[in-house]
Amino acid sequence: MQLRHWLRPPRQLLVVFLAVALMSAGAVGWLGWLLLKQDAALDVQRRQERLDQAADRAAAAMQRSIADLQAHANPPLGPNVRFPPGVSGISIRPGGGVTAWPEGSLLYYPVSGVAPLAPSQTFADGERLEYSGNDLAGAARVYSKSAAAGDPAVRAGALARLARVRRKLGDADAALRAYDQLAQIEHADVEGLPAALVARAGRASVFEETSRPSELRQEADALQRDIRRGRWQLVKAEYEFYSSQASAWLDTKPADALDALARADAAGWLWQNRASLDSMPRRSIALPSGPALVVWQSLPERLYAVVAGPTYLASLCSEVVPSDLRCALSDSEGRTLIGDRPPARMVAVRAASAAGLPWTLHLFGPSEAEGIAPSPRRRLLVLVFAVVALVLATGWYFILRAMSRELRVSRLQSDFVAAVSHEFRSPLTSLSHIAEMLAGDRIRSVDDRRKSYDVLVRDTDRLRRLVEGLLDFGRFEAGAAALRLEPLDITDLVRSTVAEFQERVAPDGYSIEMTDDGSSVHACADREALSRALWNLLDNAVKYSPDCRTVWVDMTHDDDRVSIVIRDRGLGIPAHEQREIFDRFVRGADSKARRIRGTGIGLAMVREIVRAHGGEIQVASEPGRGSRFTMVLRSAGGVA
Ligand code: ADP
Repeated sequence: MQLRHWLRPPRQLLVVFLAVALMSAGAVGWLGWLLLKQDAALDVQRRQERLDQAADRAAAAMQRSIADLQAHANPPLGPNVRFPPGVSGISIRPGGGVTAWPEGSLLYYPVSGVAPLAPSQTFADGERLEYSGNDLAGAARVYSKSAAAGDPAVRAGALARLARVRRKLGDADAALRAYDQLAQIEHADVEGLPAALVARAGRASVFEETSRPSELRQEADALQRDIRRGRWQLVKAEYEFYSSQASAWLDTKPADALDALARADAAGWLWQNRASLDSMPRRSIALPSGPALVVWQSLPERLYAVVAGPTYLASLCSEVVPSDLRCALSDSEGRTLIGDRPPARMVAVRAASAAGLPWTLHLFGPSEAEGIAPSPRRRLLVLVFAVVALVLATGWYFILRAMSRELRVSRLQSDFVAAVSHEFRSPLTSLSHIAEMLAGDRIRSVDDRRKSYDVLVRDTDRLRRLVEGLLDFGRFEAGAAALRLEPLDITDLVRSTVAEFQERVAPDGYSIEMTDDGSSVHACADREALSRALWNLLDNAVKYSPDCRTVWVDMTHDDDRVSIVIRDRGLGIPAHEQREIFDRFVRGADSKARRIRGTGIGLAMVREIVRAHGGEIQVASEPGRGSRFTMVLRSAGGVA
């Protein structure tokens, strides 16, 4: 029952509106969600298609690059062939000898380089004296003699031994001289090691023994550089030994490029498997030092091969895929050789067998954590829905505002009806009472009769003013109140209205004090309307001044404006009410609480009238201190 009461119009309208608004919001939201979902599915499909296309192109490009490498694995594989960076060409002779290009591009080899070696018995005499006879000086003499031999291999063997004996004798400078001579011999081995390597390592050892750190550093540095640039054809163990030896002398950690290590290891793999290489002349291999690609051609006279390390493979990957996509390569056992681990979804895979590649190719976009930019279409969709939602929300806001205003007006209207009824009731009650008494001839004394007539006159006047006020308000509301503007003496109009008002309020002890310097100001105005506006302001000043019974009226003017000020020292108006009291039907909280008579249309009419005269109404007030209303009108400029 209570709910039905609460839901009476216009609240019902509000509820209907809210229901419609919610439904339309729901419908738009649902539609938007559906569209976005559909768009997301389309987007996934589009991305997958793009990945597939890119994967096909990448596989084809990789095939071409591998075919290029394959073309290098052919005679004449040699010093004149230009290899891409990170790629080495290798040829293996049937006997197992290995050559690599570009020269020095392998850190170590599967087999040592072959250089002439002195016959094993050459130094037997010297070694007998050195070891069995313990005659180091004698041994040195024998070795010195051999050091002058014409055969570089003999010379090298003798110099290395001579240096060793000199060191044993503690003659460091003589040992260094022997090593210097040894270093000059390029193509000879000493005990299976290149003569120059033995010389460098020997010199470094002498510097270490004789505590000459700066020379030791210099020599170790040169040794390391020579090893790293592949000056000598060393096997892995030799390389590792001398490399770590040099690092120890230099007090650094061995730091070999993984790429070079992988290529050297790939050459080792090739050498080891040279007898059993299968018919598919390409293979990607996962080595401890990194992934490598090996392509070869087995001809009767030689095995020609090309090896590429991880750097080449990574650059191949980045070259063949668009920059916003990622590429990964995996081997037949599923190990990722190059790139990040591919995701489970949104990836294009080209298996090795199907794509004719030595690895499986995976292509995928950036991970979701890295953020995938929404497609322009999706952005546009979101934008469209955002605009629709904004338009709807703005529409709802204005409709709601208008409705709440109407609700307020309708509440004010019902307050107004109650107030008007009350305003009518009290004079009507007293009129009917007096009329009854007079009709029944119950008022005997002449004095009482006069008093009754006075009350009759006053209440009839009050009713007349009330009715006139309501009628005028009705006309203003309907926009039918056409003003009859005529040149008027405004001071005179104010004077006569104040006088008339004074007469009416004098019996209640009120007085209106008007400052009048006798001058007159002229303006174009509607006599009746302006006088009603002034009357309303005076009536309010009296109504809302229960304690101070004086009201002041002042007039000021300049060339083109005349101001009529009505002041009182009454209740005053709180600041937050000062704007809305000029709206129709609005009454102050204090006046309602104190049950002061009124209908809430007085100031609304004043504002309408003043505006219709091209002027404005101002209020300044402080609760408890009184109020000051100012009507500002355009004067006709005539001051007499
Ligand atoms: P009402 O019939 O209530 O006087 P009005 O439109 O004339 O209606 O005034 C609106 C409200 O403004 C009043 O209810 C009152 O609260 C406030 N008000 C107007 N004039 C004065 C005044 N001189 N002093 C204090 N309050 C005033």
